Amino acid sequence: MRLVYAFDEQAPGGRELLGGKGVGLAEMTALGIPVPAGFTVTTDACRETMRTGEVPEPLWPEVDEHVERLQDRSGKRFGDAHEPLLVSVRSGAAISMPGMMDTILNLGLNDTAVEGLAEATGNPRFAYDSYRRLIQMYGEVVDGVEGHLFEGELQGLKERRGIRQDVELTADDLRELIGTFQSIYQREVGESFPQDAREQLQRSIRAVFDSWESPRAKVYRRTYDIPDDLGTAVNVVQMVFGNMGDTSATGVCFTRDPSTGERRLYGEFLLNAQGEDVVAGIRTPEPIERLREILPAAYEQLIETLDQMEKHYREMQDIEFTVEDGTLYLLQTRTGKRTAQAALRIAVEMTGEDLISREEAVARIDAGQLDQLLHPMIDPAAEVEVVATGLNASPGAASGAIVLDADLAEERGRAGDDVLLVRWETTPDDIHGLVHARGVLTAHGGMTSHAAVVARGMGKPCVAGCEALSIDTGARTVRIGDLELNEGDQLTIDGGTGRVIVGSVPLVPPAIDENFGTILGWADESRRLRVRANADTPEDASKAREFGAEGIGLCRTEHMFMAADRLPVVQEMILASDEKARRSALDRLLPVQQGDFEAIFEAMAGFPVTIRLLDPPLHEFLPSVEEATSDAMRRRIEQLHEANPMLGTRGCRLGLQWPEVYEMQVRAIVRAARAVADRTGDAPLVEIMHPLVGFAEELRRLRELTDRVAAEEAEVEYSVGTMIELPRACVRADEIAEHADFCSFGTNDLTQTALGFSRDDAEGKFLTYYLEHGILERNPFEVLDREGVGDLMRIAVERGRGVDPELKLGICGEHGGEPRSVAFCHEIGLDYVSCSPYRVPLARLAAAQAALADEGVTSVAVGG
Ligand code: PEP
Ligand code: MG
Repeated sequence: MRLVYAFDEQAPGGRELLGGKGVGLAEMTALGIPVPAGFTVTTDACRETMRTGEVPEPLWPEVDEHVERLQDRSGKRFGDAHEPLLVSVRSGAAISMPGMMDTILNLGLNDTAVEGLAEATGNPRFAYDSYRRLIQMYGEVVDGVEGHLFEGELQGLKERRGIRQDVELTADDLRELIGTFQSIYQREVGESFPQDAREQLQRSIRAVFDSWESPRAKVYRRTYDIPDDLGTAVNVVQMVFGNMGDTSATGVCFTRDPSTGERRLYGEFLLNAQGEDVVAGIRTPEPIERLREILPAAYEQLIETLDQMEKHYREMQDIEFTVEDGTLYLLQTRTGKRTAQAALRIAVEMTGEDLISREEAVARIDAGQLDQLLHPMIDPAAEVEVVATGLNASPGAASGAIVLDADLAEERGRAGDDVLLVRWETTPDDIHGLVHARGVLTAHGGMTSHAAVVARGMGKPCVAGCEALSIDTGARTVRIGDLELNEGDQLTIDGGTGRVIVGSVPLVPPAIDENFGTILGWADESRRLRVRANADTPEDASKAREFGAEGIGLCRTEHMFMAADRLPVVQEMILASDEKARRSALDRLLPVQQGDFEAIFEAMAGFPVTIRLLDPPLHEFLPSVEEATSDAMRRRIEQLHEANPMLGTRGCRLGLQWPEVYEMQVRAIVRAARAVADRTGDAPLVEIMHPLVGFAEELRRLRELTDRVAAEEAEVEYSVGTMIELPRACVRADEIAEHADFCSFGTNDLTQTALGFSRDDAEGKFLTYYLEHGILERNPFEVLDREGVGDLMRIAVERGRGVDPELKLGICGEHGGEPRSVAFCHEIGLDYVSCSPYRVPLARLAAAQAALADEGVTSVAVGG
């Protein structure tokens, strides 16, 4: 097994072997795009090192061989005192992990080589600048020296010289800094900075392998569901220099605007700088258009190259480039991360440009990311006090308490507080804070800074590069212009406009644009699953239709019982001592329920509406014993008390014991359907659903009740079905199906009963421990437990359809709007999913993607 491949060699694997960066470099080399020479150490080598704790034996000889090739090509020699070959070492996993791994530039310099470089280039300032960077990066990445020790010295020197920018430091200043940095290294590491180029290279490669196991990389992988055993590749690239003077530059650039999706070059650069200056967000870079004025030839070449790359990749690219003395080099390309809004626009426009098909466009949209579009925005009618403006780095608005460090953001976020992380800039060490904050505000850094990239990926609002902001971490205060605020004070950011606002502000849901509708329209052409909504009110029903719902899959009637004007009547019904008194209360509830149903039928005209009869335990409607207003009431409350009400008198058990309750509900449904049919000329498509059925006999009796009452009422069409939300119902679905026109999986209760996890308590208790300690990978109330609950569902489908091949099957638990669970529902052949109105678009897309995957149309991996 070979462990190293040059960029111009054909490797026997793609990104899983070479990593995203390695594949990109090899592919660009093959396309004839200007890329520096270099080679990739494979992920095999990393995995083997993680497995045994030692690098595999053949690795160093192979690396030596490839270094020799680089020497032969360049005419320079590694570690040479006169014309040294310099390289960078960069990590690159199969899946992009922005900022997670570290880069070392200028490797190969030492005390003599730096003088050789100064002489060979006639540019001592450049040579010393490169060397001081190497000592710092190598110290940080390989030996874990704290970065601020170096930064502090650099800052101190600038202050002593009375200058602000690094580029103003002279060659002598930088030479002095090299000495200082070397003594920091010596002091912290306990040995002098390594002078042997080969040792530098070997230790750097090893450090990249080790960084795969760093805590911050692990946090990132957990957040994004990236497997731990992928490992990373390492790229060793011959250096090209963006810090050779004013004809050199380094930058990052997207082929389309990652915020809006507009087709235009979007990026930024720094003149006379090296790559990490841009990404780290320490100096504020210039917009890419300025390059046209400063280095016009390089700019033209950049435009041409990016055009060629988009045509080749048929996807928006995010590249890093360096201009060395007027000549352009590309150092990296990857699929660009983008906001949901941009993703839609790019997909639609690329279809128009004949780059991709409609199906590919649909497959490329991240269903989870669509959520971003449904993010809150600042209410336009609200009076806001804008105190500063920064870059609109990631859309959406967020209000929260100011928090100045990531640990506190995590702590308060976990405690349920809304917090905004406010930092000079963020680094990968802040990742856990970003995860738990509502949004992030930074003083430094551009649209491609760490904070911006990570927030965009997470769909969180971010305002970056807010220059009016300064932070005093000692006093725990921030200053924005003239205003001083304390940690804990409320602040609002609008990542769509870059506004920073004092206090918290009312937010509204955003409007959805045309591209959203276009993509979902295309999705609808591909999907097999129907998508319905869970809705209990006419307002929810209308919202659901706006989002494209094709009916209501679950109307929970108990919510109608909770309204303030109805609760007293409901309580009277429950507290009644005999059937007569109960019926009298029910008679008063009937017209009210009928009114509710009429409005819902009208809002959903033309689509099926599944109405579920009363489900929750009755005590949920009752006051506590302490609140009882009479002895009789207290006694009745005590009588109704159950130790385990979730497994008690609820659902069909209640309907069977007190048939008059379900009779009233059936009557209300049938009368409402008749009234709407008479009024509008359209008969509603009525489905009456009985909850918590476990035995066929329960449903048989309830079907009889339903048919009897309906027959007493007006003539209407309806169907009768049940929820499947108990394991017993799954395994006896064949018997149950004898009495059902349709079945709907109630995966909330099914998860509770199949796993024995309380719906009410698990998430606040042991489940958190289970997730944190990897006993479970995902919260089963959020993402369907395919193996357990899913298998029960599969059995139910097989047995139910075995009796009635036409049996209509759906899902109405929370999982019906979760993309991975929707894919599972497609796989097992359900007819529809039903979810909350805001998740209907997600479900439509996820259903289409599941169907397209059957035909082999999948999204391209976002890598780099
Ligand atoms: C379910 O149990 O999945 C369901 C949809 O019903 P509810 O959440 O109302 O119990
Ligand atoms: Mg249920």
